[in-house]
Amino acid sequence: MPHTFKQPALARLLRYTQIHTTSDPDSQNVPSSPQQWDLLRLLQAEVTEMGMTEIHLDDRGYLFATLPANTDKPIPVLGLLAHVDTSPDFNGKAVKPQVIEAYQGEDILLKGSGDYLSPKNFPNLDRLLGHTLVTTDGTSLLGADDKSGIAIILSAVEYLLNHPEIPRGKIRIGFTTDEEIGRGADHFDVKAFGADVAYTLDGGPLGELQGENFNADSATVTFYGRSVHPGTAKGKMINALTRACEFQQRLPAHLTPETSEGRKGFMMLHDIRGDLEKCQLHYILRSFSRRELAEFGQNLHDTMQAMVQQYGEGCGEVEIHEQYRNMAEVLDDYRYLVEIAEKVMKEQGITPNLEPIRGGTDGSRLSFMGLPTPNLFTGGENFHGRFEFISVDVMAQAAKVVVGIITAFTETEFTSH
Ligand SMILES: [Zn+2]
Repeated sequence: MPHTFKQPALARLLRYTQIHTTSDPDSQNVPSSPQQWDLLRLLQAEVTEMGMTEIHLDDRGYLFATLPANTDKPIPVLGLLAHVDTSPDFNGKAVKPQVIEAYQGEDILLKGSGDYLSPKNFPNLDRLLGHTLVTTDGTSLLGADDKSGIAIILSAVEYLLNHPEIPRGKIRIGFTTDEEIGRGADHFDVKAFGADVAYTLDGGPLGELQGENFNADSATVTFYGRSVHPGTAKGKMINALTRACEFQQRLPAHLTPETSEGRKGFMMLHDIRGDLEKCQLHYILRSFSRRELAEFGQNLHDTMQAMVQQYGEGCGEVEIHEQYRNMAEVLDDYRYLVEIAEKVMKEQGITPNLEPIRGGTDGSRLSFMGLPTPNLFTGGENFHGRFEFISVDVMAQAAKVVVGIITAFTETEFTSH
């Protein structure tokens, strides 16, 4: 069956990558860049053509559609989600994908830039021998993140429309915007979407199944100075820049991303802006446990307190802002979501990889908005840059997993939810 999905998934991916959908963090528009509408409208036409129902593209750029149930069994409505935008971290315009059939482990020349995509630098390539790969030409990212997710979802939906003998509950699909700039869930209407649970198709290599992510806060640390002509500054000048540097130096060096992996959290200095009169340091704080995250925040407050004692009241302040929380807290009440995906993967000979996400997804926000949403693999790798690539064979396996999950929902006895 995975073979069934290869051609349709590839054709869709290539079609979608031709549409420039880079999101724009500097824009306050919704969606942030007008080009995202181009892909949304194309997808609206495609799902209409395919025969999906309850199709609605709202004025904020959320496209929802339904694959109706073909059984009367009471089954939770299942949502499938992917995002249309690509990362502003790298050029996403004029994407010229290269398709490599039956990959043999060689270095792949990216013809536009002269770079090589090589298993020496990206050892994961060695696991994809014989696969059909899609790469960039080196002048742009590919946008498999997350156009592959869209291609996988629609290939699975199309398969089910062509195979009405396969029982299924009601499926809702949702294509969203601005995920890459952290706004994908901002205007998501959970009620209008009408699913009980969902999966995002926005993961990486084969087997990824993510139901856990960081708790995230950001912090702004401000120092105030006093500018005086440097020639006559003795005893009068207060330099906010040097205070800011001192603050950073006082923080523990072992709690940075460069020294953390696995289940360890971190506090990272993200940027410093300012001048002698006023200087702000921006931090991101990340941990899988809320307790440790609170300790990181406390650490910043304590450090400031020590400096206030040394330099006096009003020399600076710390503000902490909540960003997102670990979806595992929500998914704990919906264990079947991860369990069903795990079981389906194993049945299909795929080893599930449940490592937590050292970051966040739209799914983590949505989970706390009332739509529990773990994340599934798509086959894409090296997202957000010129070395992005995807295995079409793994995309096909993802489509098969999606169909497997939909089938498994019809075979599961749901007591609550
Ligand atoms: Zn993504």
